Amino acid sequence: MTTGLTYLEVQKHLEQLKLTQVQVVLDRLAEEASRRQWSYIEFLGKLLEEEMAARQERRLAVKQRLAHFPWVKTLDQFDFSFQPSIDEKKVRELATLRFVEQAEVVLLTGPPGVGKTHLAIGLGLEAVRAGYSVYFITLSELADQVPPDRTDPRWAERLRVLSHPRLLIIDEVGYVPLSPIVSYFVFSLVCRRYEKGAMIWTSNKGFADWAGVFAGDEVLTAAILDRLLHHSTVINIRGRSYRLQDKLRAGTISAPTAAATQPGERE
Ligand code: ADP
Ligand code: MG
Repeated sequence: MTTGLTYLEVQKHLEQLKLTQVQVVLDRLAEEASRRQWSYIEFLGKLLEEEMAARQERRLAVKQRLAHFPWVKTLDQFDFSFQPSIDEKKVRELATLRFVEQAEVVLLTGPPGVGKTHLAIGLGLEAVRAGYSVYFITLSELADQVPPDRTDPRWAERLRVLSHPRLLIIDEVGYVPLSPIVSYFVFSLVCRRYEKGAMIWTSNKGFADWAGVFAGDEVLTAAILDRLLHHSTVINIRGRSYRLQDKLRAGTISAPTAAATQPGERE
């Protein structure tokens, strides 16, 4: 006795129901089912499992694209033994994402090449995998998006967009000094997100030098730092540049040159 359904019809139904992963794995799993004598329910269960897993992957891929990471590296790819000034336990604690849930702030500071952006992206990826919305932006990119006039409707729109993600990563505070109007925008953004949305900030400058970034405005800078530091984890990385280490190993540059270009580094 037969159901009368042909293979082609089954495939058509799967297509109409958008069970695209079932379509892909049907042949393999049908063959496996008969070889291993799975029950019908087991077979159906396996097919649905595959479909659910593929959908989860697709959702994550979309979230990861929306996060706008400049490149992707995980926390597992971070070599903590290279950077002993980082308390690995602190980073592992951050990776539990309690700071995201509690709308707290992570500040990563240190000289170029010590892994600030890598750690920020690694934590961002963990948040994406946990289903949070994440957005990564450098401070200079952000500055370029701020309209010069506060009454411009795009001002409120940008503020709204950047207030939205559960985790906002602002990279590279300190490389580009901001205008007074952009500094005020950043202050507004920090006020909006304060105790509402988690943030990770990275900077090559110590907090004492942040006023130089925010148009020399000491009062505004103090107000920004006050809110950022209130519920925060600060990781100050003091160590050698991983980028230079790579180059030294490859023989692209010689050790004295590397030392000369990194005066702030401990050897
Ligand atoms: P920063 O943002 O502090 O300037 P990055 O995070 O961009 O530094 O790191 C520079 C490069 O070196 C990146 O490719 C990063 O993945 C790598 N890197 C830095 N530190 C480490 C580390 N401890 N283990 C593995 N890779 C590292
Ligand atoms: Mg960086």
